[in-house]
Amino acid sequence: MATPDPRRLANQIALVTGASSGIGVAVAKGLAAHGAKVVVNYAHDEEGANSTVAAIEAAGGTALAIKADVSQEAEVQAMFKQAIEHFGTIHIVVANSGIQQDSSFVDMTLAQWQKVIDVNLTGQFLCLREAAREFIRRGVQPEISRAAGKIICMSSVHEVIPWAGHVNYAASKGGIMQLMKSVAQELAPHKIRANSIGPGAIATPINLTARDTPEEEKALLTLIPYNRVGDPDDVGNLAAWLASDEADYITGQTIFMDGGMTLYPGFADNG
Ligand code: NAD
Repeated sequence: MATPDPRRLANQIALVTGASSGIGVAVAKGLAAHGAKVVVNYAHDEEGANSTVAAIEAAGGTALAIKADVSQEAEVQAMFKQAIEHFGTIHIVVANSGIQQDSSFVDMTLAQWQKVIDVNLTGQFLCLREAAREFIRRGVQPEISRAAGKIICMSSVHEVIPWAGHVNYAASKGGIMQLMKSVAQELAPHKIRANSIGPGAIATPINLTARDTPEEEKALLTLIPYNRVGDPDDVGNLAAWLASDEADYITGQTIFMDGGMTLYPGFADNG
């Protein structure tokens, strides 16, 4: 991955959902390091969002925190309106917000199913739709980017790896795959690119309980041929590159960033 070059995304406006913690923070900082001005979305954690903004500003960048629950249509629309009023337009949207509410299948409540689908899948639909509307309205600005807009969905290895005890989460990520691919197909004529990043295990609050003892960390590493947990900055750097014109011919793809988790590591010793 190229070292940060503030010209790569210069004069571009990016919006990152769930940028008050974890991967979203690293993506917001990564895009800013490459020159984008960044809208830092958060749902509840205002302090986290303000600290992302402060870190970007301390590094010489520009950022604005906006509160919105991505599962609520009116809040998503108000966020895009505020962002566009403030910065003039948007060129890059990273739909990153996501949650887990784990349960065995037979005990999963409708509320647990619905909440995860609402945030992880409907939230991405709402953000992608507002992004597409703005990208189409404005069209290509050739001096800024070859594309009218760039969409990056934060998916997961669980868009392809089934996950017992997490059927709501796995279903939401499988849904994101077809959402992203169908959007990419429909919007390519408008010069809009849509892609996903499929992280494996990245060290963030969402999976703290899966690696908070040495035994759990060791068990997790048996699933990762590259033998390390990922760093949020790995994902931030990839998002910056994927949003740049260096990736202009890539659309409709999921790039897995997983240290080999999707390589069926159980077969490494001949099954
Ligand atoms: P995280 O818990 O630190 O971040 C999740 C973010 O989503 C938080 O900022 C949270 O405030 C936000 N969010 C939750 N509900 C929201 C709502 N209703 N509206 C707006 N924002 C909301 O965890 P993370 O690991 O940084 O997760 C980020 C994304 O990466 C998620 O989509 C997750 O599924 C995905 N992912 C993470 C991993 C991993 O190993 N960490 C692996 C694969 C995929």
